Amino acid sequence: MRNLRIRLTLSYVLVFAVILVTTGFVFRQALIVVIHQQSERVLMEEWSALKGFLHLRQGQFVWAFDPADADEAFTVERLRRVLMLATREGEVLEISNGYGALGPESAETIRKAFESQQSRTVTRYDGRGAPYLVRIGVYRDQGAELFLALGLPALEMQRIPDRVANMYFLMLPVILLAIAVLGWFAAGRALRPLHHLAAVSRSVSEGNLSLRIPQPESGDEVDTLIRTFNAMMERLEWNFQQIRQFSIDASHELRTPITVIRGQLEVALLTAETKEQYREAIVTALHDVERLGQIVKSLLLLAQAESGQLKLQKARVNLSPIVLEDVSQFRLAAGERGIQIQAELPECCEAEVDAAQFQRLLSGLLSNAIKFTQEGGEVKVQLSKSGEEVVLTVSDNGPGIAAGHLPNIFDRFYRVRQGELSPDKGIGLGLAFVAWIAKAHQGQVEVESTEGKGSKFTFRMPAGRPHTELSGERPAEQATAPMAD
Ligand code: ADP
Repeated sequence: MRNLRIRLTLSYVLVFAVILVTTGFVFRQALIVVIHQQSERVLMEEWSALKGFLHLRQGQFVWAFDPADADEAFTVERLRRVLMLATREGEVLEISNGYGALGPESAETIRKAFESQQSRTVTRYDGRGAPYLVRIGVYRDQGAELFLALGLPALEMQRIPDRVANMYFLMLPVILLAIAVLGWFAAGRALRPLHHLAAVSRSVSEGNLSLRIPQPESGDEVDTLIRTFNAMMERLEWNFQQIRQFSIDASHELRTPITVIRGQLEVALLTAETKEQYREAIVTALHDVERLGQIVKSLLLLAQAESGQLKLQKARVNLSPIVLEDVSQFRLAAGERGIQIQAELPECCEAEVDAAQFQRLLSGLLSNAIKFTQEGGEVKVQLSKSGEEVVLTVSDNGPGIAAGHLPNIFDRFYRVRQGELSPDKGIGLGLAFVAWIAKAHQGQVEVESTEGKGSKFTFRMPAGRPHTELSGERPAEQATAPMAD
C-alpha cells in the first residue's frame, strides 16, 4: 500500500515537473521573441528621430540642434553613440566609438544598401561578443543620399529572458517539493478506504463473515470497489451459512436411521432366540442400511452439484422419447397402485439439455407424484414448446400441498410431514435436486397446489440455439411417441 502511495506521489511530481519545465522553456522563447520585437521597434523610433537632427546644409550633412536645449543635446548624443555615416563611394564621414568596436561596415554592404534602397535590421557583435541590433539603410535629405548605420546595444535586453528563466528554474525544486508534499497527502487520502478494506479483509474469518465496510456513497471507483467487496462478503456469508446448514441437516438426517438400526439390532440381541428371529432383525437392519447408503449417495450428489463439481453434458436432443421412456419405467410402479399415467408429448421437442439430468428431474417429479397420490389416482405429464421455451409439467390429483409449505418444498431435507421416515417416503432431497437441475439449465421450476385436489409442477427452460445446416451436429432423433398416451 505504501508502495502505491509513493508511486502515486512520484507520478504527480513527474507529471508536474514535465509540465513546469516545458512551460518554462516555452515562456523563455516567447519572452525572447517579444523582447526582440520591442528592440526593433525602439531602433525604428530612433531611426525616425534622427530625421529631426541630421540635415543637408550647403551640400554637407550636419547635425542641427540647439546645444542649449539639454533634451535635444542629450537625444543627439544618444543617437550618435553607435552610428556610422558614409558616402555612396564608401568614404566614412562619421563613426562613433561604439560603432568602431563593431567594425566599420564594408564598402560591399554600403553598395548593397544603395542598390536595394531598403533599410534592414541586422545583428552585429563587438570585440567582446556583446550583441547590437543595427539598422542599415540609405538616409535622404533634399535629394542627397547618405549611408546610415544606427546601432542599439542588445546585451541587456537579451539577458532578460535568461535571468527570468534562471529564477524560474531555481524555484522549480521548491515548487516540486510542495507538489510532492501535497501529492503525498492526496494519495494518502485517496488510499485510506483501501487501508480500511485491507484491515477488514485481514480480520475476515469463518466466524465473522458478517463484517461489512461502511459505504462512502461517493460514486467513485473506491465506492464501487467497496460495494463489490460487500456484495462478495454477502455471498460468502450466505454460502457458508448454506454449507453449515447442510452439515447440520445431513448429520441430523443420518443420525435418525442409525439410531433406528442400532435400536433394532440391540432389541434383537436382547430378545431374539431363534435363528429366524435373528435373520429377520438382520434383514430389516440391512434394508435400513441400504436406505442409509441411498441418503449418503444423494447427499454427495447434491453437494457436488451445488459446489459446481457436477458439470452438465449438454447436447441438442429430442426430449419426447426421453420423457416417453421415463414414463414407461414408472408405469409399472404406478400400475401396482392403480394410478394412471397420461403423457401428452409433441413428436419432436428439441432442446439443448444434459439428457441424464433432464431424466433425473422428470423422475424426481414423477416419483413424487406417484408416491404421494392415493391409489386409483391420476398423473399427467405434458411436454410442449412455446417459442424458444420448453415447458414440462407433471400434475397429479393427489393430496396437494398446503400453501404454507409451498415456499419451502424445494429446500433441502424439507418434507411436509417432517419426521416421517419410511422407505417409500423420501428424505426431502428430491425437489432440491430438481431445482438445481432447472437452474443449471437456465430454467426454473414452479409449483401450484391445492390441498385435497392435487399438485402441478412446471419446469421451463430456454430451448437453446437451434440447429443450423452448417453446425455439423447430428440431427436429433425423431420421437416415436404417440401424441397422447
Ligand atoms: P421427498 O424425498 O420427501 O419426496 P422432495 O424434496 O422430493 O422430498 O419433496 C419435498 C416434499 O414436498 C415432500 O416431502 C412432500 O411433502 C412434498 N411433495 C412433493 N411432491 C409432491 C406431490 N406431487 N404431492 C404432494 N406433496 C408433494
